[in-house]
Amino acid sequence: MYRRNIRHILIPLAIGLSVLIGYNLFLKQTQPSLTMRPMGTIESVPPPPAPAQSKPSENEPRLVRALDQTVIPPTPHRSILEEIRDEVEKHNLSLAENKLKVLPASILSDGQSKPFVAILWNNLGLQQERLQGTRASISAFKKAAELDETNPVILMNLAQAYWEQRDRALNAEFLTKLMKVAPDEPFPHLAMADLLQEQDDLSGATMHLAQAAQRAKQDPALQSYLATVTAKVQRTQSVESRMTARSSTHFVVKFDGEEDQSTWTSVLEILEEAYRDIGQKFGHFPSRPIMVVLHAKESFQSSTGSPAWADGLYDPTLDRIQIPTQGATTDRKWLATVLRHEYVHALLHDRLGSHAGALPTWLNEGLAMQLAGDSWPDLDEARHGEIKVIPLTSLEGAWGAFSADASIVAYLEANSATHYLIERWGMARVDDLVKAFRTNASVATAFQDKLLTPYEQFHRQWLEHFEQARS
Ligand SMILES: [Zn+2]
Repeated sequence: MYRRNIRHILIPLAIGLSVLIGYNLFLKQTQPSLTMRPMGTIESVPPPPAPAQSKPSENEPRLVRALDQTVIPPTPHRSILEEIRDEVEKHNLSLAENKLKVLPASILSDGQSKPFVAILWNNLGLQQERLQGTRASISAFKKAAELDETNPVILMNLAQAYWEQRDRALNAEFLTKLMKVAPDEPFPHLAMADLLQEQDDLSGATMHLAQAAQRAKQDPALQSYLATVTAKVQRTQSVESRMTARSSTHFVVKFDGEEDQSTWTSVLEILEEAYRDIGQKFGHFPSRPIMVVLHAKESFQSSTGSPAWADGLYDPTLDRIQIPTQGATTDRKWLATVLRHEYVHALLHDRLGSHAGALPTWLNEGLAMQLAGDSWPDLDEARHGEIKVIPLTSLEGAWGAFSADASIVAYLEANSATHYLIERWGMARVDDLVKAFRTNASVATAFQDKLLTPYEQFHRQWLEHFEQARS
């Protein structure tokens, strides 16, 4: 039973690997300033396509995000515009913002000044983003786009901020506009594919993925990412086209035609209870319905591309929980364990959006175990046996290369360290810690800023507690 208890958690390693490799390369090239941790928690790390703001090709120049503000249009408002520009350049951001906000209407109605004011808002947004992330820059980019919605750089900056903030304003209407203004960019098509996939329009998603691929010709990393995602979406589409879908308030559950009614009812009951119970504990409810796909056990492996030993998974690329069931003989207790655990991963994905990859694996898995209320007999056994402690710093990235023994220790420690965190600081503070990863903070910075405790000190104190509990 030992494998059975952890295998549903281990699975995803195989699943997303190739996708993530491509995605990683893609990100590194398009966003060089981003420090990527080795990604590999696959089950929980969403590999959403990041906005392809720039073209990482050697032959083509990168599309810049800042706009030229050196040449001020010869208008009667010249001096006031110059003043604001200088404040932006001197990084006096709030002063610049205040001056932009109170510009007289006559400037904004002037055909020459208006696009320049849009440029100033755009460049102010970039400075705000540099200091405080996209949460701070989104309103400046919005102002810029309101003033000049024909400027592709401004619209792409706004799209990127929306994307990072998982802002619902990145909707079909906005993306269609963006496609017109920036027709050569793959990103609007990627984002549209993501949107359609969310609405379960997989054929529409495939079409936009193809359009993104056409526009990513110069970018082998993005090409390979797109090819993998496209293959996945197509396979899912073909598998799921035979399925029946039923929705409850918060979930869409798809199942094979022969799936029996009682399993379907059980699944929805378990999920709705998880929604209430885990949502209350964590203080977060998903922003949209979560998709759960029940596969017949025999076809689970071929349908999801997961390894033979897989018991279920949360697939961040397709944003779906996938579970193999055996009709009426499905063990309800097992079903509840797997569904609740994967539901927490889905919830964390929803909470962090495109930054879920920054969350250390031990915290991601620990939260899944703590919030789902997992009980694993093999962990209890291991707790009192002889183990070689792995430092938490080695449990932040991929667990894929771990041996079965090491993975047991990894889950044991993740569970214990997260339990210790919640006991000591309370769930609300732990949620603050989780949210810190939205800005791609390092683990050390997040601990220091949110818990006012050095990571090292936390590690030492937790380890003492862990060793005590084991003896
Ligand atoms: Zn897990």
